[in-house]
Amino acid sequence: MGTLGSRYVTIAGTLRPPEEVPVNLERLCKNLGVAVRVGDLPADTWGLTFLDTLVLINQALGDADARFALAHELGHLLCRRGAMPHVTADAEEWACDWFGAELLVPTRWLAQRLASDERRLSRQLGVPHQVLIIQKMSLGIGPAIRHLGKGGTACRSCGIRPHMTGCPCRRVRRLAQSAPPPDHSRVVASTLGGADDFLSVV
Ligand SMILES: [Zn+2]
Ligand SMILES: [Zn+2]
Repeated sequence: MGTLGSRYVTIAGTLRPPEEVPVNLERLCKNLGVAVRVGDLPADTWGLTFLDTLVLINQALGDADARFALAHELGHLLCRRGAMPHVTADAEEWACDWFGAELLVPTRWLAQRLASDERRLSRQLGVPHQVLIIQKMSLGIGPAIRHLGKGGTACRSCGIRPHMTGCPCRRVRRLAQSAPPPDHSRVVASTLGGADDFLSVV
């Protein structure tokens, strides 16, 4: 692994049993002394962390999205507790995505199941499909950039958000917003100089 995601294997590994699937977030939060509540939040806000003891999750989220939102917020909480000192404030959202993905989809567990159907694995783990995909990217499997249909774009460097630096996925994300889906994969493939490093997923 050579991506940002590999940094979180050790941190996440201290919080849950290595082969626990799906991860028991309720017990994990209890062990961390974290209270979790669901509430009415704006549509673009999946969750919020208060101090370092309370997480609020958007009540409109489905089960898989809510689990990822909670895992992501636990990343913020650990940052506030000083458990991820390498994370700078401007990179915290990316760090929490990688952390949350590693918490719910342990890369060592996934590495033994790469031939399995992605959507079946996502259901087994109780995670959104795109979270499984960014963990595969973390292992260096598959193309560096994948268009996820309505689920957005995943990038081996940036995960599911646009990166702060000049990553090529920025162009892919812009095209995904402006181009109609049937033409999109062809446009993007030529933009990046070839289809080998890009895969469209519906
Ligand atoms: Zn966040
Ligand atoms: Zn990127």
